[in-house]
Amino acid sequence: MARTTDYGDATGLENMQQLIQLRWMAVVGQVATIAVVHYGFGIRLPLDQMLAVLAFLAAFNAASQLRWRIHRDVSNGELFVALLVDVAMLTAQLYLSGGAANPFDGHNVALHEFAHQLDDEDGETDGTPRLGRNMPLSQQAGLHAAWAKMLSTEYEDFARALHEGQKTVMDSYGATNPAEFFAVATECFFEKPKQLQTKHPKLYSALKQFYRQDPAGWVSESAATAPTQSKIPKGLKDISPG
Ligand SMILES: [Zn+2]
Repeated sequence: MARTTDYGDATGLENMQQLIQLRWMAVVGQVATIAVVHYGFGIRLPLDQMLAVLAFLAAFNAASQLRWRIHRDVSNGELFVALLVDVAMLTAQLYLSGGAANPFDGHNVALHEFAHQLDDEDGETDGTPRLGRNMPLSQQAGLHAAWAKMLSTEYEDFARALHEGQKTVMDSYGATNPAEFFAVATECFFEKPKQLQTKHPKLYSALKQFYRQDPAGWVSESAATAPTQSKIPKGLKDISPG
């Protein structure tokens, strides 16, 4: 019996030490992945929160390493808890990075990059996409100017609200520059349409015209139509990409 118990404890310690090694690799791997995705691909991630999770994981691992240097007996329960922590941290990172699958967090990398594509189409990444493509150039120029004016006003209001510490519907990353503002607004338009419509009616109307979609109406048919029609900014009556 004693032999079996000793053998079991040694295996437990070995497993725990292996887990600690693997966790260090996971910490390094996550730092590298976050850096490449965020800085390399330019895909915005909630860095503060993801790094906080990582810091916790590293601290937990350092503590584990110390603990199992002193206590050499590892129970199955302790191994289980250690694994639970790993699963929880990984879940947190997946939740924070959002991906395209989380429909209610206001983030959507695919929509974000799609907006940049549309924005780039006129040769300038400035938050103003190509507008009225079937219209004479003079009219396109008018639409472009009206959109740029609308966007810069909204952008400045947004930056000011952030600066004043107000809670905003859109992610603060939108304050980076007008191009990011347009991309973040597009995400928000499809993911939190009602809130965007309430807080930024002009921006919502412009996006509604541009995308020819009314996502706030998808959420609730009744409330969507009436208030938005009247708030279409001047000069932006017919701007869908066609
Ligand atoms: Zn972007």
